Amino acid sequence: MICISTTSDLLTMPEAIIKCPTCGKALAWLSSNPYRPFCSERCQLIDLGEWADENRSIPVDPDHDDMTEEDLDRN
Ligand SMILES: [Zn+2]
Repeated sequence: MICISTTSDLLTMPEAIIKCPTCGKALAWLSSNPYRPFCSERCQLIDLGEWADENRSIPVDPDHDDMTEEDLDRN
């Protein structure tokens, strides 16, 4: 008798492709990615910032936003 654990095989399928909810970029669903379902920490923070902004009504400083983008370009 052959006993194959198909359920286990499905759970360990390595190539599940999802789309980042923030930027729509396709990425592999990896358990090693701490930011899933986002593609990166940046997209995760953007998403968290959106709901935080709705709940807390934090005013967005346009100067700070510009500095962040320039900083990313330099890096
Ligand atoms: Zn993303």
